[in-house]
Amino acid sequence: MSASDVAVDTVVPADEVLVAGEWRRGGGTGSESIDPADGSVITTVHHASEADVDEAVAGGAEAAAEWGRRLPHERARHLHWIADGIEASAERLARLQTRDTGKTLKETSALVASAAGTFRYMAAALETFDEELTTQRGPSLTMSVHEPIGVIGAITPWNSPIASDAQKIAPALAAGNAVVLKPAEWTPLVSLALGRIITDSGLPPGLVSVLPGRGSVVGDAIVRHPGVGKVSFTGGTTTGRLIAHAAADKLMPVTLELGGKSPTIVFEDADVEAAIAGVLFGIYSSSGQSCIAGSRLFLPSARAEEFLERLVKAVARLRVGHGLDPDTQVAPLVHHRHRDSVAGHVDRARAAGGEVLVGGAVPEGDAYDAGAYYLPTVIAGLDNSSPTCQEEIFGPVLSVLTYDDEDDLVARANDSVYGLACGLWTRDYRTAWRVARRIDAGTVWINTYKQFSISTPFSGMKESGLGIEKGRRGIAEYTRQKSLYWGLDEAPHPWAG
Ligand code: NAD
Repeated sequence: MSASDVAVDTVVPADEVLVAGEWRRGGGTGSESIDPADGSVITTVHHASEADVDEAVAGGAEAAAEWGRRLPHERARHLHWIADGIEASAERLARLQTRDTGKTLKETSALVASAAGTFRYMAAALETFDEELTTQRGPSLTMSVHEPIGVIGAITPWNSPIASDAQKIAPALAAGNAVVLKPAEWTPLVSLALGRIITDSGLPPGLVSVLPGRGSVVGDAIVRHPGVGKVSFTGGTTTGRLIAHAAADKLMPVTLELGGKSPTIVFEDADVEAAIAGVLFGIYSSSGQSCIAGSRLFLPSARAEEFLERLVKAVARLRVGHGLDPDTQVAPLVHHRHRDSVAGHVDRARAAGGEVLVGGAVPEGDAYDAGAYYLPTVIAGLDNSSPTCQEEIFGPVLSVLTYDDEDDLVARANDSVYGLACGLWTRDYRTAWRVARRIDAGTVWINTYKQFSISTPFSGMKESGLGIEKGRRGIAEYTRQKSLYWGLDEAPHPWAG
């Protein structure tokens, strides 16, 4: 399997970044983008500089002043054109993303389709986004309207680039704003390709800039820029906290989609076949590099042995391989450095007394030698309070815990700084309802896992985030709300002389 069947330079000239409507070489340093399947250099991306950020914000503000005055249905039409462009380039976008992230082509194809769907959904939501006439309480007509903020800073991680870019750009544009997007250092290529599609769609120049670069340089410059009125960030909780501090200095609103350490709970009455498939998909799809990965598995003590025996056999059968191989289920991790970080977590788990039931190593063989592969891993024997069960590993590593009663289960499932997602496997609708309502998580899946719909809001509780994405209200997150009172009183005002 050769990854080089994507001629990257024909997809995106990576030495150019998009600054205020102009494609040109970034003012920062060059950085190599690596294919994690074999360690080869795909291309060199020239980072943006702080001066590029200044220019992008100024250009964005100018473009937004006109864009924000356009009628919603006119803006919606542009969002459809962007979706058309994504769909027309779907195959090459997916292949490019597979090269840059290592992910399976099946997954990157789904992410591309989801990005197009996000633009279409936000177009539809925009056209049906009604302003509010509020109930009259006095001699005035009262209403509440939403207005654009101006320039939005969008900062995204490396794990699902085009989908997370679209989740920020589409609602921000819909709401009448400009966007300055900063993709992650490891995976800028598909975001640059999306920038090309946006430019080609005829969107007013300057409305979207794409500025790859380091978080501490370009990301920080965007967050602190006085011309940026809101930042929408997806990434780790440590970075999210830094951004929240910087936002506090400016009193700027932020949306933060952060990390997770999500529990998956199997109840005694669960359909074991379905639960095993769901648990596997929940943790090992995307090689575990997913904020919502179901990384802590809670099993009822009475059935733990039987379940684990079947689970471990199923994990050992998972096909680890190149993302472009259609048979692959577990692709390489995004970068060799990240693979080493995951391996470090497993080594520390072993040292702490954890029992590695399967995996716990890099796979052997020529096909894997140069890539950032790590075997799907199951670890038992550690307490929920252990670092392995508390820290986000962001790799194909599942911790197994057992429980005897529901109160103890809920307490331990909630004993985490995170509150992003949860999976429940049970045939009893009452158990599902009761436990789903007791779990601290922005999303709970019942007899399924990792399903997503753009029409359903997504958010994190506790240290998993602030604000929401997706859903009709997703557009409102990129607006400022204003109330208007129209005086109707025909009688003279009591203060009238
Ligand atoms: P990260 O926090 O290291 O980086 C995310 C982005 O922030 C990158 O573009 C990075 O360059 C930028 N950044 C870094 N420091 C910055 C700073 N000081 N100021 C501004 N920007 C800065 O995260 P990552 O390693 O790229 O991604 C993995 C993390 O993302 C995991 O924790 C995962 O759970 C989280 N994530 C969350 C969601 C969600 O929706 N909740 C979705 C995907 C990923």
